[in-house]
Amino acid sequence: MVDLVGQYHHIKKEVDKAIQAVLEQGHYINGQIVKTFARNLEKYLDVKHVIPCGNGTDAIQIALMALELSPGDEVITTPFTFVATAEVIVLLGLKPVFVDIDPDTFNMNVEKIEEAITSRTKCILPVHLFGQCCNMESILEIANRYGLYVIEDNAQAIGADYLFKDGRTAKAGTIGHIGTTSFYPSKNLGAYGDAGAIFTNDDNLADKMVHIVNHGSRTKYHYHYIGVNSRLDSIQACVLDIKLKYLDEYRDKRIKTADNYDRLLENIPQIRIPKRSNFTTHVFHQYTLRCESRNELQQWLKENKIPNAIYYPIPLHMHNPYKKHLNNQSFPVAESCSENVLSLPIHTELPKKSQSIISSHIEKYYNR
Ligand SMILES: *Cc1c(COP(=O)(O)O)cnc(C)c1O
Repeated sequence: MVDLVGQYHHIKKEVDKAIQAVLEQGHYINGQIVKTFARNLEKYLDVKHVIPCGNGTDAIQIALMALELSPGDEVITTPFTFVATAEVIVLLGLKPVFVDIDPDTFNMNVEKIEEAITSRTKCILPVHLFGQCCNMESILEIANRYGLYVIEDNAQAIGADYLFKDGRTAKAGTIGHIGTTSFYPSKNLGAYGDAGAIFTNDDNLADKMVHIVNHGSRTKYHYHYIGVNSRLDSIQACVLDIKLKYLDEYRDKRIKTADNYDRLLENIPQIRIPKRSNFTTHVFHQYTLRCESRNELQQWLKENKIPNAIYYPIPLHMHNPYKKHLNNQSFPVAESCSENVLSLPIHTELPKKSQSIISSHIEKYYNR
């Protein structure tokens, strides 16, 4: 699905030199390069504060901790996401409240948010799934009306641009009160280990989160909040700082790859190519189709050694640890998507020839 080694070989000289320098300096956690990377990412995103942390799951947890919510407070999110999003909500003693998704974009259906709001609702946590933003203008409007926080889980859409109705643009993750991201190796901006970050334009929230990532402390041995240990190490930061320079180039390669898939696949009546919303660019963390007879197609692709994956095979509300937080609610669109989605390989090193082979196998399957 990805070719991380191939990508490394294109930047090997730079990366090897930077890692060597970190090893020689000896500041292995929170060294100068961590600060440099954070400042460079602030510039790229045009956001006031980037706070590096240990991974994308911690990033969401820390963002929620900064809101100082009470046990039982409700956070509205999607059941069609990686587990981390809902996991940290439950872990903090908060209640996840799911709303169903839009079948075309797989993102939270904003029409369903208002009916999920109760007197305990404190936060909306949209996930910009597969690389394109949720309808943030609608989400912000609802959040403003009900006085709710908005945290964007931007683990999959770093570098995407959101286009407001008035023509303004903003980078994904910088639109709500807090944005979070993951630099897991296969993400669009990937480290060579675990890493993550939190973004905000709010000075108070930023100050709190700078404390929380490091045991609630900014000055050694002075503790102002209950915190966690979630720091970024210097080796990951130096890799990320190099890859950040290539992020737009990587994004453009992914979009080109997606365009080419669109051309190759758009005329196969049994599949639907990804829909791109007009208020956001799509940075294609995943290229995800909806297909007839998905399981049989997947089996066929397996037999023909074509890599593919299902994100996500079972929506979160159907897993036991989450079931008990819901009153037997069902989310039919998420359920049906989990039965017909199929993601194809997409990464910065994928040759056009491989795409033609992949698409011809899909075509062959339906024409058998
Ligand atoms: C990857 C991912 C996370 C978690 O990031 P980690 O760095 O693996 O902890 C959270 N949310 C979404 C949507 C993700 O894709």
